[in-house]
Parts: sequence; C-alpha cells; structure tokens
Amino acid sequence: MHYLYHTDKEVFQALKAEIERQTGGLEMIASENFVSEAVMEAEGSAFMNKYAEGYPGKRYYGGCENMDVVERLAIERLNLLFGSEYANVQPHSGSQANMAVYFSVLNPGDTILSMDLAHGGHLSHGAKVSFSGRLFNVIHYGVNRDTETIDFDDLGKKALEYRPKMIIAGASAYPRTVPFEEFRAICDEIGAYLMVDMAHIAGLVAAGIHPSPVPFADFVTSTTHKTLRGPRGGFILAKDKYARLINSQIFPGIQGGPLMHVIAAKAVAFKEALAPEFKTYQQNIVKNAKALAQTLMDRGFRLVSGGTDNHLVLVDLTDKGITGKEAEEVLERAGITVNKNAIPFDPNPPTITSGIRIGTPAITTRGLTEKDVIEVANYIADILLDPKNDTMVRDIRLKVKEICEKYPLYTERLRRYEE
Ligand code: PLP
Repeated sequence: MHYLYHTDKEVFQALKAEIERQTGGLEMIASENFVSEAVMEAEGSAFMNKYAEGYPGKRYYGGCENMDVVERLAIERLNLLFGSEYANVQPHSGSQANMAVYFSVLNPGDTILSMDLAHGGHLSHGAKVSFSGRLFNVIHYGVNRDTETIDFDDLGKKALEYRPKMIIAGASAYPRTVPFEEFRAICDEIGAYLMVDMAHIAGLVAAGIHPSPVPFADFVTSTTHKTLRGPRGGFILAKDKYARLINSQIFPGIQGGPLMHVIAAKAVAFKEALAPEFKTYQQNIVKNAKALAQTLMDRGFRLVSGGTDNHLVLVDLTDKGITGKEAEEVLERAGITVNKNAIPFDPNPPTITSGIRIGTPAITTRGLTEKDVIEVANYIADILLDPKNDTMVRDIRLKVKEICEKYPLYTERLRRYEE
C-alpha cells in the first residue's frame, strides 16, 4: 500500500477503514462474499490498462494477445463449470447481462413475465424504475400466499393470458429450490423464451447442490460475485446458436471495451470454483443457512416459506414489533450486517419493510461452522427480541469481535495497511 498511501492518503484511509469494517464484523448480506487474494491480485493488475474491444482472435485494437489468453481461459472454465455450450464473460454486471439478453431477442414493447420484486424478484427483471420496466410490457408472477413458494398455477394462467415472449426465472430473495423444468414446460406451451437469472445461486449450481438451469433455459445470466465468490461482474450462458446474437448485443450493443482486469479475475474465480474444495464450501454454505434457519425458528421467528434450501433466509418480523429497517440498524450496531427486505405481501414500504434477509456465503468463506452459526443466530434472536437493550447489544458486539478474531480474513493485507 506504499504507493496509495503516498499518493492519496484520503483514499488510503477509506480503504483501510473498509477492510477493517469487512474483517471486524460478520457480513451476512446474502449477495456478498469475500474473494480470494488471487482474485484480488488479478483484478488489481496491469490488465486494467488495456482496451480489447471485440472478442478473442477478433479485436479492434492491437496488442491483445494476453487479453485473448485470459478471456479464452475464462470462457473455457465457465463452460466446463456449468456444462454450457457458449459463454460471454464480458458483461460488466448482472444487470447488463440481463439487458444484453433482452436486446438479443426482444423488441421494445414486448411482453415479459417475471417474478415480482416485492416477492423476491430483481429490479432488472422489469421493475418500473429500471430500464427493463420502462422498455418492456412487464407482467409479474409471485409466490403463493400459503406456501410462499412460486405460484405455478398463477404463472401458468398469466402465461396463457398474456403470452409473453420471454419468461424470467430467478430472484434475489427466494430461499427455496427453483424447479426450472416447470418453467420450461410453461414456456414450451406458449412458445416463449426462458431466461434464468441464477445470480444468487450460481455457486450452488456450479457445485451441483442446486439443480442447473442450463439444460432448460435458452439463456442463463448471472453475477460472478455472490455465492460464486468471484469479482463483481456478470456473464451469459446459452446454446451455441445464440453466440453471435449475444456477442453483438454485449459489444457493440450495450458496452464498449471489456474490463479485462475483471475478466482475468473471473478466470481465476472460475478455476477456484472447479476445484473439489469448492463443492465442500458450497455444502457448508447451505449447512450454515439451515442451522441459522432452525435456530431462528426455535427462538420463535417465522421464516418465509418455513425455512431454506439455499444460502439465505428471509425473516418475517411482523409479530415482533420491529421493522426490517430497525432490525438492520440494531444488528449493525452489534457488528452483524444484514439487509432489510420486503417479505411477500409486505404491508410496509420497501424503505421500511417487515423483514430481513440473512445469508451465509461470506461467513462460510471465513470458516464459520454450524456451531458458530448457531451462536450467531442466537445473538441475532437476542437482539431482535430486545432491541432497546443497549448493554446487551454492546456485549454481543464484543462476542462478534471474538468470532471475527477466531476466523481472520485478509490478515497479510491488513498488516500491510498498518505498516
Ligand atoms: N440478478 C439478480 C437475481 C440479482 O440478485 C442481482 C443483484 O443483486 C442482479 C441480477 C444484478 O447484479 P448487478 O448488481 O451486478 O447489476
């Protein structure tokens, strides 16, 4: 950190404070994770200096031979990881991966059927405030009021009534397994494209813990930075027949030069995901999420859908006299970072909410086991049942610190920042 310290002390201080924040508390936001040192090294590298518009072997700039090496590695590894025929690793983000797929086969005004944001869907699946909601005619499906799992009766009816050109599966706050074959059957009935956005569960899919959408979907999109544990970014998978269409919609359709340092970091993350330890890691994420769910339920909390099959739980706080916003704030004071989240049929607005979403990918990366998670879940319950008890919150903050010290992270990096 020698150079940064001498060039810009303000950014250096913010970076130091951020790494202390990340390592000194428990990160339980379901969409976040900690990349390896190797991934960080690849991203913070000279790859960032290079323009490489185009694709391997067909660039619009000279000097791209090393860019071709890393992009080809990323593509090959990604196809191996998910058993796909074609991969595009250039999307700068998950939202841009989605945008490129829409632009490949849809025209403005076409109808898409996707999961309601209020039931766990994502903004880029047609929310009014997103480009997707402004450009397309969006119809939503949601979850069944009783089971709180995807309501396929309603989805099927809406598919027949509105005949969307595309159905989107995938969500940001859905704790259950998504049966992609049911989506495929409905799409086949009406001749619609199926796009699966597996951003949240990509790591579980790669490890074979969640069923893969690849055999069923026309297009699979994802982020790389959630359970998959890569750098921030996106990718698209599809059958070979869509290769030219998707490639041209990413570049020049919606992006210019690819972020080659990010693509290099993606290649490293995909290599890590292909290693046998990655499967154990993903299994531990789910084991930890189940331990979290069971402990919270034992302590009297209602979980949306009654539990979890994946890496996250959605806690309904309506009978606890605390909103999602308040819960997020008080847990943060104890060093436990979660996010407020709407629950299905939430009476509160999205800025307040009646729920919180809690995930286990990042704490599992640190090495926390089920036993630790039970301890943390009990702290969460203690706080949410007595949120005004400042002394207790302070005591739990100290216990959280002890857990963080037991499972250190980025130690060498932190040491360098102190020097
Ligand atoms: N798709 C899903 C299901 C997500 O949960 C998210 C992010 O939370 C995205 C897409 C968007 O990813 P990005 O923030 O990289 O645009």
